[in-house]
Amino acid sequence: GCYTTSVIAGVSERTLIAVKPDGVQRRLVGQIVQRFEQRGFKLVGMKLLQAREDILSQHYHDLHKKPFYPNLLRYMSSGPVVAMVWEGHNVVRTSRLMVGNTNPAEAYPGTIRGDYSVHISRNVIHASDSVEGAQREIQLWFDRRELVDWDCCDHSSSYQV
Ligand code: GDP
Ligand code: MG
Repeated sequence: GCYTTSVIAGVSERTLIAVKPDGVQRRLVGQIVQRFEQRGFKLVGMKLLQAREDILSQHYHDLHKKPFYPNLLRYMSSGPVVAMVWEGHNVVRTSRLMVGNTNPAEAYPGTIRGDYSVHISRNVIHASDSVEGAQREIQLWFDRRELVDWDCCDHSSSYQV
């Protein structure tokens, strides 16, 4: 139950994953969700939305001065995104490994970017890069009430209890 989950260190770590507009257009949402499910993570929030500019601007607050920033905002608002919150042990770090290098040309085969993309300007997916960043991004993209606490029936198959 909830008690078991909360006493295992790190199990309740959460991260923000977003399938970007190119991933939604190319109907990769199912494949991407499947990878996180099969890895053993728990989905606690998910929605399809057209991202508002103020959210994108806060989301990419560290990139405002980059030359590619205007293109990045145009890309991210070119269609709907699927925003998700995934939970589990080390999920922030592990999902960055699953996603692969920012530049698909450097992303290993087997990673999401390495399997589904070729160019940095259309790299299919976002994943938070730190626990603090994840907390900030989850608050930005989701209302508390949109996140669901639930017990995965196979919890003890993925975690020592
Ligand atoms: P991420 O955390 O791996 O997504 O990478 P960053 O946080 O550094 O950058 C955020 C997003 O900006 C990337 O996923 C790309 O979509 C985009 N981006 C980063 N660097 C470049 C670049 O050099 N050129 C272009 N066109 N887009 C970039
Ligand atoms: Mg980043």
